[in-house]
Amino acid sequence: MAYVSGMPSVKGNECFLCAAARGDEESLVVDRGTLAFTLMNRFPYTSGHLMTVPVRHAPDVLAMTADEGSAIFAATQRAIRVVTDVMHPDGFNIGINQGNAAGASTEHVHVHVVPRWAGDTNFMPVLGDVKVLPQDLATTAATLREAFARLGPL
Ligand SMILES: [Zn+2]
Repeated sequence: MAYVSGMPSVKGNECFLCAAARGDEESLVVDRGTLAFTLMNRFPYTSGHLMTVPVRHAPDVLAMTADEGSAIFAATQRAIRVVTDVMHPDGFNIGINQGNAAGASTEHVHVHVVPRWAGDTNFMPVLGDVKVLPQDLATTAATLREAFARLGPL
């Protein structure tokens, strides 16, 4: 079972995370460093669903260098801090889908950071795939981007 479902915005065979790393998805990118960056999931599981990603196209966890691993972990910590400050969730799901059998939607490793609120699972099974999002992506991205900027550079 996929850790988190819903994601890809693929143009042909192009890797959408490499495209984002190059700057093609600036409306979704909320934090940027030299080895890692963070973007909003275009198809969020909950409001504030972020992905932290190595800039280089590393296909899985084993393909990352130690420096890349440190960078995405630092990015993940910043994501948790910012989403906590801005959105006040009660918890997080934090994880990686690796391989098709695990629900990975792209061969560019990334960490899902999904804020959770007490009781948010009560309606999710009932509504199935229906997403209940209080803010649109652009508004949420702008708010989060400002909060990341206050932390200083990644
Ligand atoms: Zn890629």
